[in-house]
Formats: sequence, C-alpha cells, structure tokens
Amino acid sequence: ATMPPLLSAIANAGRHGVLVKSAVVMEQLGQVDAVALDKTGTLTEGTPRVTDVRPLDSSGLDEDALLRYAAAAEHPSEHPLARAIVDAARTRNLDIPLVEDFTSAPGIGVTATVEGSAVAVGSPARLTDGRAGHPAASVAARLEDEGRTAVLVEVEGAPVGVLGVADRLREEAAAAVTALKGLTGRAPVLVTGDNPRAAARLASEAKITDVRAGLLPQDKVTVMRELEQAGRRVLVVGDGVNDAPALAAAHTGIAMGRAGSDLALQSADAVVVRDELATIPAVVALSRRARRLVV
Ligand code: ADP
Ligand code: MG
Repeated sequence: ATMPPLLSAIANAGRHGVLVKSAVVMEQLGQVDAVALDKTGTLTEGTPRVTDVRPLDSSGLDEDALLRYAAAAEHPSEHPLARAIVDAARTRNLDIPLVEDFTSAPGIGVTATVEGSAVAVGSPARLTDGRAGHPAASVAARLEDEGRTAVLVEVEGAPVGVLGVADRLREEAAAAVTALKGLTGRAPVLVTGDNPRAAARLASEAKITDVRAGLLPQDKVTVMRELEQAGRRVLVVGDGVNDAPALAAAHTGIAMGRAGSDLALQSADAVVVRDELATIPAVVALSRRARRLVV
C-alpha cells in the first residue's frame, strides 16, 4: 500500500531531523503564517560563554570568589547561562560547593544557600527592581551595550558583582529567517527574556526587525495571543523552560532538541533533533506539499 501523504511527510520530516508528534501536527505546520522565535538556544547556538567577571569593589570578593558563588548557585540549573557559569568556574579549577534550598524562576534566575549565605543569580533588571542607581546596574548596562547578557550576583540581597555572557548567532540564522519570511509572507518576531540591547544587536544580524525583549514566560504567551488576535496562526520555536507555556499555547510549537529542556520538549508539537534552524522552514514546506496531496 502507498503511505498516506501526511505519514510520508512525517517520515520525511524525520529524515530532515524533525520529530513531528502526529499527523495532525504535520498538517497544521503548513497553515502557519507567523513565526515567533526565541533567542537563546534557538536563534543562537545555545552554548554561551562567560566573557567578563566583574566583582564590585564594595563586595570584597575577587573574580574567582564571585564566580565560585555564582557557579554554586547555578549548578543545579539546566539553563544555558547556568552551564556557561559552571563551565567558567571549572575552567578556572574552582571547587564548586554543594548548595541547599535551590530555587529557579524561569526568565529571572536562581537562588540558593551557598555555605550559609543566601545567593541570587539572574537578570539585573529583575533582581535590582527599584535599585537602578546601584553601581552594579551601570556595570550591567555597559556589558549589555556591548551585546552581552549581564548576570547579576547578589549575596544576602546585596549585589556583589556582574558576569558578562555571550552567545553566537547560529550560522544559518539569517538564511532560515529569510526562508520563513518567504513561506509565511512575514518576517519572524524575536521573543526573548534577555535584555533589549543584546536582543536588538542579535536580531539585526539575523535580519529580524520585530524584537520583543525582557519578556517573562507568560509575556511570550501574550505576544503570541496578540498575533493570533490579528488573525495569525503562529508557529513558536523555543528551547527553554521559559518557552514551554508559549510552545503549549501556540497553534504549533517546535522545540530545539539539543539544548532543549524536558518541559519544552514535552510542551512542543514537534522536536528538532538535528540541531539546525534550516529544518524549520523545511518542515513547513513539507507540510504544504503533503496538504496539497491530501485535499
Ligand atoms: P531567552 O528568552 O533568550 O531564551 P530566558 O527567558 O531563558 O531567555 O532568560 C531570560 C533572562 O532571565 C536571561 O537573560 C537572564 O537574565 C535571566 N535568567 C534566566 N535563568 C537564569 C539563570 N539560570 N541564571 C541567570 N540568569 C537567568
Ligand atoms: Mg531559549
């Protein structure tokens, strides 16, 4: 027997490196006419590196002590920023103490008790609410102007230093953006929890003009709903825990598999197992072809 077109398309998508979870999803992919892309891990390679370690003079900490605190608190986290920070500490041969009371807030950061001290590591904008005049805020702003993600470290509620982290745009990002624009008739939108300055710099390299930055996970859902209310069928592509709500709520959600969190993989309708962004326009095109055969 010949395979029904949507099943052949699923097999084909698999050969392209995308696991499509059902025939319904395979069909829906061809209907999308707007795309929302996450930044870290989706548009970028998802393996950020620590580029700057800046203890505040007032903290009494040196670079290694700052990095050691941050790495300890981040150790239980699966966020790409956390992995960058832990790797940087390992590269410097720092011992990373075990922590207690670990918590993580998607889109914000982590907290933990490190050797009896309460340590928080995360977004300067979210952790220093109402304290914008602090020296840490200007260190962070300078790093962000250079296109870095600034990560604030606090001990017992007081900022002690800032880390700068940088990630590379995927080589094929601009080509994938152009291909998606060709297929859907619209340029993709960038939705990110990162700071507006780093986001804008990366977006322009990827030929994206519509940038929504500083978003919490629920804000990504709101952006998606706005597009829906304008009559769009939105494809959301993301990898993080922070993307899970938008992936689940979207007309179609695709998770990037390599760096993807378990929650993102479960929430998505399809998973990219070959770590390339070019697979996204490829599966949309496959769906269009299969639908033409079905109807
Ligand atoms: P994106 O949307 O680009 O994938 P996220 O929503 O995962 O970004 O993160 C948004 C911001 O939240 C980060 O830029 C960072 O400031 C902060 N953040 C989230 N998780 C962590 C973490 N584990 N450590 C430090 N900062 C974090
Ligand atoms: Mg991400």
